[in-house]
Amino acid sequence: MKIVAVIRESSAQVQNQIYALAESIRPLGGSAQLIYLRKCEDAGELPDFRGYEKVLAVRPKGTLPEDPEVWADAAEMFVKPDEEVLAVLPATMEGSEAAALLAGRLGCGCLLNVKTLRQSEEGPVLSRPAYSNNLTVSFVPESLPAVCSVTVQPAAEVPEGEAPAVEEVQLAEAYEEPSWLEDAEIIPRAEEEGITAAKRVVVAGRGVGSREKIPQMQELAEALDARLAATRPVVYDGWVDKSCMVGASSAIIAPELCVVMGASGAAAFAAGVEKSKYLVAVNNDPSAAVFRIADLGIVEDCNALAEALLRELGGEKVG
Ligand SMILES: Cc1cc2nc3c(=O)[nH]c(=O)nc-3n(C[C@H](O)[C@H](O)[C@H](O)COP(=O)(O)OP(=O)(O)OC[C@H]3O[C@@H](n4cnc5c(N)ncnc54)[C@H](O)[C@@H]3O)c2cc1C
Repeated sequence: MKIVAVIRESSAQVQNQIYALAESIRPLGGSAQLIYLRKCEDAGELPDFRGYEKVLAVRPKGTLPEDPEVWADAAEMFVKPDEEVLAVLPATMEGSEAAALLAGRLGCGCLLNVKTLRQSEEGPVLSRPAYSNNLTVSFVPESLPAVCSVTVQPAAEVPEGEAPAVEEVQLAEAYEEPSWLEDAEIIPRAEEEGITAAKRVVVAGRGVGSREKIPQMQELAEALDARLAATRPVVYDGWVDKSCMVGASSAIIAPELCVVMGASGAAAFAAGVEKSKYLVAVNNDPSAAVFRIADLGIVEDCNALAEALLRELGGEKVG
């Protein structure tokens, strides 16, 4: 198996990325090649490439736009779909996106945010955290090529040995911004306290029925001075933002009051709310598992109950 690390020349962190990927790749044994995508045609000195057997420094024509699509495009020139290769990118936001794009183009598997790599008889073993860091899951790719992004530890060790020879390649074509792109802007997320800090939470489950019912649940949450949270299907269907998700693979919450509306109480969800001090569950199915973890269970249509509660409160906020 060939191992190819793909790093894009970027910030001051790039030397650490080079060392860190070399360190992560080392337990796989064998030698690794580094494809180093330079920022621009007239980029200055090259960093230290110790830890790799071979380095290909790719110089763009003009400037390589800071776009994961372009990173994946460039990587695709050097990693072929018929090769037995594991491509490793740094698990930065752009690196992981480029890894997924590269895998899509190669038509192969991709695993993001891998923490450790090692070799086994079955092939390379890629391990990464799962369930909000509560478990470590290990994968062996069924076939190669495969792509992964690997978490970059800060202050990685400087690899031993000599720096390898660097082959420089100049791309003939310039990268252009796509014609459809008129303007790009990064809109920072509003800094909000997470749902884990909230004293009261209303959780919307799939039983609320549709995205159109979410504003009523939000209204109920506000009336109860609570934060709105949601189960995984509600988040995955795009009814609410993913920062709202609770459960074993997202946020584990322990508020004073948790009102669960229309959720079945599946184990992966229950793990996220069962530490609540007082848990109210509303479900129209009396046999729903959620009632097993509830302090108060109400067999009712959750939307009708929300409406009645809001009417009862008449715009008053429960302090
Ligand atoms: C690896 C893995 C990780 C997971 N991690 C999470 C996680 O972190 N968080 C998470 O939430 N899930 C997680 N899940 C998914 C989880 O197993 C369940 O599928 C999910 O929690 C179900 O969401 P739900 O209860 O909203 O929907 P459903 O299971 O569809 O339940 C809907 C409930 O609403 C009730 N209902 C329907 N209509 C009404 C109504 N009008 N009024 C009242 N009740 C009504 C139904 O009786 C039913 O009980 C994970 C699954 C896997 C495999």
